[in-house]
Amino acid sequence: MTITDRLNATKAALALAATDSKRDLKDITLICVTKTFSTHEIEPLLEAGHRVFGENRVQEASGKWPSLRASYPNLELHLIGPLQSNKTREAIETFDTIQSLDREKLAYAIAEEISRSKKHPKLFVQINTGAEPQKAGTLPQEADKFIKICRETYNLKLEGLMCVPPVNEQAAPHFALLREIACRNNLTQLSMGMSSDFEIAIQLGATFVRVGSKIMGQRDYVT
Ligand SMILES: *Cc1c(COP(=O)(O)O)cnc(C)c1O
Repeated sequence: MTITDRLNATKAALALAATDSKRDLKDITLICVTKTFSTHEIEPLLEAGHRVFGENRVQEASGKWPSLRASYPNLELHLIGPLQSNKTREAIETFDTIQSLDREKLAYAIAEEISRSKKHPKLFVQINTGAEPQKAGTLPQEADKFIKICRETYNLKLEGLMCVPPVNEQAAPHFALLREIACRNNLTQLSMGMSSDFEIAIQLGATFVRVGSKIMGQRDYVT
């Protein structure tokens, strides 16, 4: 199977999951995660009409995407990996959406860069639903307070929430928790679900799923 075949198979699986969950397909966006893959490997997906992509590293993305954007101006790029506050400018130059807002220092840096650049990236707060020490994201018990600070102190407009559940646990309770936090904070967008669990995420209300290996194939190195 080519990458384009796997994109089509993934889109078919997504459509089936939407039907099974009585969800409207147009409320679910497939983000194709292209980290570690070259522009050469990404291009067939753009040729096939796909426009929404995710990367987890600012530096890698800022090397790869400007040339692709020149040829495909209407593409949409999501940052789904951790963001150091000193990379905020580069991130906002490269990405349309930042899904990894998770601490006040970063909220401050993003607000500063928005007012300087007049660019308005879409913003998701990442929640560390499994409270894993090594993982990025705001802790669930601190989420309401952090969301309030983003909105009231930094005047940031938030779209929704993102999570990456612990690898060795059932994902469903984490997706349900993310939805609960989003609901009580009036956030409508949920970025959850990856290659192995996007169907469950769709059942639980995902509006963005982030699919990498199922489309791109195995990555050569773990990131
Ligand atoms: C790599 C990555 C994905 C895609 O993972 P797959 O299992 O390859 O689908 C999704 N979300 C985040 C945050 C990632 O880093």
